[in-house]
Amino acid sequence: MWGCFFVKICPERILAIAKNEVHKKILFIICLGQAGGEKNKGDYNLRIKSTLQKLMAAKTIVFCDFDGTITTVDTFGDALAKFSPELSAQILPKLYNREMTLREGVRAILESIPSDQFPAFVDEVNDKEIRPGFSEFLQFLGDRQVPCVVISGGLVAMVERVLERKGVNGQPLRHGVESVAAMNIDTLDEYLTIISPFEGGTEMVEKVQVMGKYEYDKAIAIGDSLTDINMALKADLVFARRHLQEYLDQEGKNYIPWETFDDIRHYLENSDFFA
Ligand SMILES: [Mg+2]
Repeated sequence: MWGCFFVKICPERILAIAKNEVHKKILFIICLGQAGGEKNKGDYNLRIKSTLQKLMAAKTIVFCDFDGTITTVDTFGDALAKFSPELSAQILPKLYNREMTLREGVRAILESIPSDQFPAFVDEVNDKEIRPGFSEFLQFLGDRQVPCVVISGGLVAMVERVLERKGVNGQPLRHGVESVAAMNIDTLDEYLTIISPFEGGTEMVEKVQVMGKYEYDKAIAIGDSLTDINMALKADLVFARRHLQEYLDQEGKNYIPWETFDDIRHYLENSDFFA
């Protein structure tokens, strides 16, 4: 009753009212019952439902890598190698062996590429495949109101280009993604200039900085390589493939191996992680 009283004053205040998950669940159930019982107050009740459902669902969030994770190949690394072959041949092996930081290496290669080649650079992503089950996985998360944030050590333009593609529901994949965090590019000068709001530590896109922008109780990380290590170390549940498995073995961090997004969805369907 008191829950309804407070929520009727301002439904969005419920997070402040609820001191813990048990409080939230009790208030959620009371207020949904209240909203359902007063059908003539449609808009207000919808507002209550929407607010409470969002608050209840904010406890888990997915942080998902892009290259080699959403796409089947490393679109950004491949484009670097194509448009700056000499520097890439020198630098990329050092990055993978952790002998040079991503921040130094990616900047050196990317900023050696002339600005007039930028449209062709982004076009490299056009024919790259998306890993099976991604669209269904986004729907699975959407049904449970779990946000999916795509974090890439590559370019926003390339990620957005791929997410323009339609999913199984006929809508662009981007509709199922909360936000995209990656590097932007300035093409005003003769050579590309990186604009990276999350540059920090050893990385051009410090994924843990992006994680820190969100409030959540539990984080799921999905990735495949070097740029995902710190994100994975900070997550509560990690799905790792390829090199990320080796790096996490070195770090002693547990992970679930995966190959397609169907593997991840099936794992989550059969676990109590969202409970
Ligand atoms: Mg990757």
